[in-house]
Amino acid sequence: MTIEADFAIVHANELVTLKGAGNKPRIREEMNDLGIIRDGAVAVKDETVVAVGTANEVLKKLEKGFEIIDATGKLVTPGLIDPHVHLIFAGSREQELESMAVGGISYLEIKARGGGMPTTLKKTGEATTEKLLERTTQILDTMLIHGTTTIEAKSGYEMTLHGEIRQLKIINTLNRTHPIDLVPTFLAQGIPPEYEHKVDQLTNAIVEEWMPEIAKRKLAEYCDVFCEKGYFNVEQTRRILETGRRHGMKLRIHADWLVHSGGAKLGAELGVVSADHLIFTPIDDIEALSKKGTVGVFLPTTPFCYIGTYAKARDIINRRLAVALATDLSAANMCESMQMMMTIAVLQMKMTTEEALTASTINAAHSIERAHEIGSLEEGKRADIVVFDALNHKYFPYHYGINLAEKVFKNGELVAEKGRRVK
Ligand SMILES: [Zn+2]
Repeated sequence: MTIEADFAIVHANELVTLKGAGNKPRIREEMNDLGIIRDGAVAVKDETVVAVGTANEVLKKLEKGFEIIDATGKLVTPGLIDPHVHLIFAGSREQELESMAVGGISYLEIKARGGGMPTTLKKTGEATTEKLLERTTQILDTMLIHGTTTIEAKSGYEMTLHGEIRQLKIINTLNRTHPIDLVPTFLAQGIPPEYEHKVDQLTNAIVEEWMPEIAKRKLAEYCDVFCEKGYFNVEQTRRILETGRRHGMKLRIHADWLVHSGGAKLGAELGVVSADHLIFTPIDDIEALSKKGTVGVFLPTTPFCYIGTYAKARDIINRRLAVALATDLSAANMCESMQMMMTIAVLQMKMTTEEALTASTINAAHSIERAHEIGSLEEGKRADIVVFDALNHKYFPYHYGINLAEKVFKNGELVAEKGRRVK
């Protein structure tokens, strides 16, 4: 019996399938198992992968009449997944980044001097929805041409009831109109100036007014809190997350980014789906998270840019926590490329390239509870596929700072080619 296909990508030097981890994320040494097929092929019908194997095996199975895409000498992987993005904002903060990186000024000092997040809250609040849509589309296009096919997208850069609803609506609109799939998250993030030193009052407004409204309109799948010194403390974070859960949202948390805030411990207690940053998290809290089946999300950009201290990836992976990688793209630091995250993860955090790629695909899919449909190349899964101009996966840390993605397929359609969006 033959199978019908629209096209097949064939003769990949390496076809990275990551098969067999749809039910639970990979941990420890499992993260090194990429399920590589040499001289590999993947066939697609409509939006779905219909055959995976060696070129020989796949070509034998297919009914005549499909298009052949030759991937000789190339690397083929599942679409990359970016599970932590601060997507909607106006303005830019390049001056600050340099003062932190070169001048050694801390983020908390920048904020004390009137810079940092409050400036983005102001600019974003003043921007028109059209402007925000235009800016955000550019960011998504850049992600797409770099091989990212699904992201988690957070609100949090307006921090008013109407502003947060507007941000979540933009995310939901782009999910319908842009090729990238967006998973919407309400994030309690910045503290507006009128609530400085009155975060309890802000928390009241969030739990009593904002979240019921967001839930009623079904705008957010997840709820997330910036549990950090100078933002929301552990008790405020708990109130917001518990309210989110009551309203049917699933939970994520920003934990232990600048200091040991206690976020990871709270995350374990509440059984959050993902706990992100984990830079200053004590190892006991890491163990508590792994017992709950939480996915830890490493965000290599902020340590790379200015704070210098990375999450202790080797210790954390050894403690059986499943880990994913994400860009943490935000107004404070702009990098759309998951390829770059893999580079930093390997060269600075001492993850293996296999771990980094697992963390950017199947484990990232688990961190947004989409592993049953994306994150690996297997029959029945969505045809989100990237052809990289790279001989093998070790190229991610080796040939860096450029875009290796040559062809990007989303739901079985070619959407980007040679650095340009084509659909
Ligand atoms: Zn973040």
